[in-house]
Amino acid sequence: MNDPHKNSVAQLKKVADLLKKDYKDNKKVFEKAINKLKEPDNVYETKLEIKMDDGSKKKFQAYRSQHNNARGPYKGGIRYHENVSESEVKALSTWMTWKCAVTGIPYGGGKGGIIVNPKKLSTTELEKLSRAYSVFLTDKIGPWVDVPAPDVNTTGQIMAWMVDEYQNQLSKKGLIQENPLGTFTGKPLALGGSEGREEATGLGGVMVLEKLVEKMGYKKKKDVKIAIQGFGNVGYWFAKHAFDRGYTVVSVSDSKGGVYVEKGLNPDKVLTCKREKGSVQSCINGGSAISNEDVLELDVDILVPAALENVIHKDNADKVKAKAIIEMANGPVTPEADEILSEKKVTLIPDILANSGGVTVSYFEWAQNLQGYYWSREEVVTKLQPLMEDAFARMWQMKETHIVDGRMATYMTAVKRVVDAMILRGGF
Ligand code: NAD
Repeated sequence: MNDPHKNSVAQLKKVADLLKKDYKDNKKVFEKAINKLKEPDNVYETKLEIKMDDGSKKKFQAYRSQHNNARGPYKGGIRYHENVSESEVKALSTWMTWKCAVTGIPYGGGKGGIIVNPKKLSTTELEKLSRAYSVFLTDKIGPWVDVPAPDVNTTGQIMAWMVDEYQNQLSKKGLIQENPLGTFTGKPLALGGSEGREEATGLGGVMVLEKLVEKMGYKKKKDVKIAIQGFGNVGYWFAKHAFDRGYTVVSVSDSKGGVYVEKGLNPDKVLTCKREKGSVQSCINGGSAISNEDVLELDVDILVPAALENVIHKDNADKVKAKAIIEMANGPVTPEADEILSEKKVTLIPDILANSGGVTVSYFEWAQNLQGYYWSREEVVTKLQPLMEDAFARMWQMKETHIVDGRMATYMTAVKRVVDAMILRGGF
């Protein structure tokens, strides 16, 4: 059975094995830190009861996992999905610790979730459930404690309800000096959200692309052919920023299939057409229609999975012809595929680095909320770039000094940063 938390512990053990030689003078403390990182600091659970529209009462299982806060407050999304489980939130909170550490933003990892299919709830029921979850979180979160955000099936509107309820609860307790806006990120712009958040994940990925292409030795951007699976928020913004910077985007796809245009396509034109006609395949315009599987097997320089998890697996990894993969979706490559790609010497930039532009701009949102002073989109972009570039450079240095692949180098960079903070604090 797939147990996400067990997988995250197994991954940590692998990383620790490779890192331990860096801590040979501090072996015992290193081992203690790694042991502590195997389990979250806190896992809270409850059953949230709400009154449904038909007058009946219904209970929903809910969780919040706080993995590690050595580098700063816990940070991570809230997921509404029928597959949410304790093991899943524990694993996802662990991965958030690594993701925040990779970019160097001052947070640890958290994640929460409710077992629910939100599509089966009315808007009133959804609001009640979100407010109930916020009440449950009240004494567990705060701008310097734990900062939740949207995740699968949660939106800016849901964050707005949670902020409001959190503030109600604080008022009841007389805690009016707290900062409710700084306690949640992913809020709508009209309620303390940040400029630039919508495009941040795709844009951050393109900042990583630029550094990767330099390392791969390409002379001209237009010679770099890119195929992108997924044309939603992440896929579109990645395609647009790559196109604007002169790269050749030869393929994009959505759930209905893909298009291939050898000389390259214009993502804005595809988006306008998709909005009119409903799918990217209705927008071929000089190219050809291809399946979603074909997109992954195109003869391109860079492949960008930006839709679903586990799309590159043991049965198709060998057919990947791209020289490098930038994982913009979460978990698009299975562990078996990872080994095949590593043997084929395909350079892989893993999700926790490639798509960390999103959480980085969430950090900017929090920073703006704490200051009460808001930045323009240009300021956000200018501040994002050095963080993404520095994260890439640290990963690359780790890759070269330890002779490991991109995924391992990224995890080693992250775990090292967290362990170093824990060792500085001491207290083992
Ligand atoms: P989205 O819902 O906006 O877009 C998803 C896209 O994938 C859509 O274009 C959809 O048509 C396409 N798709 C669905 N099934 C497909 C299939 N079988 N083949 C090809 N395409 C298919 O979602 P998003 O926000 O762009 O997120 C995409 C991925 O990136 C997810 O894994 C998400 O967890 C991850 N991610 C997103 C963010 C963010 O800021 N939005 C941040 C980090 C990670």
